[in-house]
Amino acid sequence: MRRAWVISTGTELALGQTVDTNTAWLAAQLAALGIRTLRHITVPDDADATRDVLLQAATACDVILLTGGLGPTDDDLTRQALADAAGVQLHLHPPSLDHLRAFFAARGREMPERNTVQALLPQAATALPNTCGTAPGICIALSGTPCYALPGVPFEMRAMFEREVAPALKRLADGAALLSRTLHTFGLGESDLGERIRDLMVRGRNPEVGTTAGFGLVGIRINAAAPSHADAEALLDQAESDLRRRLGSIIFGRDGDTLPGVVGALLAATGRTLSTAESCTGGLIGTLITDVAGSSRYNRGGAIAYANQAKVAILDVDPEEVEQCGAVSDVVARALALGAARKFGSDYAASTTGIAGPAGGTPEKPVGLVFIGLHTPTGTTAQKCLFGSDAPREAIRLRAARTALDLLRLELMHAVTHEVSGSGR
Ligand code: ATP
Ligand code: MG
Repeated sequence: MRRAWVISTGTELALGQTVDTNTAWLAAQLAALGIRTLRHITVPDDADATRDVLLQAATACDVILLTGGLGPTDDDLTRQALADAAGVQLHLHPPSLDHLRAFFAARGREMPERNTVQALLPQAATALPNTCGTAPGICIALSGTPCYALPGVPFEMRAMFEREVAPALKRLADGAALLSRTLHTFGLGESDLGERIRDLMVRGRNPEVGTTAGFGLVGIRINAAAPSHADAEALLDQAESDLRRRLGSIIFGRDGDTLPGVVGALLAATGRTLSTAESCTGGLIGTLITDVAGSSRYNRGGAIAYANQAKVAILDVDPEEVEQCGAVSDVVARALALGAARKFGSDYAASTTGIAGPAGGTPEKPVGLVFIGLHTPTGTTAQKCLFGSDAPREAIRLRAARTALDLLRLELMHAVTHEVSGSGR
């Protein structure tokens, strides 16, 4: 598998004033072409620093991509850095000068003298035509390693990459494939999950397995490198089935799947309906559910019952229960879910009641305590969750909403299995 370094130049990038989007875009293109990116490097507008990085890259990879610094001003130093790295002089490239003059003429302007520098090329380099700007790109071999210097302006860079660079890289990659797949999980922390799949996560293994986590969701990303697309697919399939065998139902989907999307598909498949009664999540579960197109097939509606009075008036929660147990209790969570199912006439209902903080916690009921109620055709239950008293409000709310969706998912999966085995299919 061929390996690349991707270099961006620009003081504004190095200082964090502009977000470097070019290297991310290029690395994704390279992966799609079957080339693995080993390094992303950002250097300020400094010819010596750029030359040094180029020299290092030339000994460490099979292809170098560089963006930025091809403009006409004094801070555009890429041409000089390339010439220095190759140990050659810059010379005028007449066809590029013609292109520059024509570019300005087409806009009814005289070419400023300064722009002539954009037609300078290191000896033995090839100019890459710029179809949407002034600066040509440059292709040059550095100690035998091909290096492509592209404009910094993102749309110019993309157009030039697609037209002038991608076909050559495709030949260089020689059919190799670098494919990736993500499995989405819920219900196990990143470190516990990592323990269970530790052997698969060993560095240097192919496929490579890694995890990313956020607000209760843990993604497992699998990257497979192989001489052909089919071989890479086979490696991904093998790793996926291995992970599914070990992790079972905590995996809820892959790639573009989402938790509310999966819950919605299960509801649609079983012809069941859903409603929500939300206190501390303030409509977040309802938002996640209705983010899914077609949710009207199964979503009956929801109530945001924040004040005790609303819980009583809208969802028929018994005021004595609120008084005795407090609004944040399993009793009230169940009553909310049951109330929603009755009011909205749904088969399933999810509810939340908790303390999202940062204030309002007590030793008995700390910030982060959330009860999640679930009504199903077979009964009404509540689960106590502790999302951490130091967690930010948005984290507690999002984790609570996702936990409610995941409880629903597990319940629906159970119902589907039951129905299938019960009907003798
Ligand atoms: P120009 O002819 O416009 O000077 P150039 O090739 O010299 O083009 P730069 O001067 O480095 O490119 O950058 C031009 C513009 O593109 C700037 O606004 C810069 O912030 C933006 N840009 C450059 N590099 C990147 C990058 N890696 N990611 C996102 N934007 C970038
Ligand atoms: Mg510039």
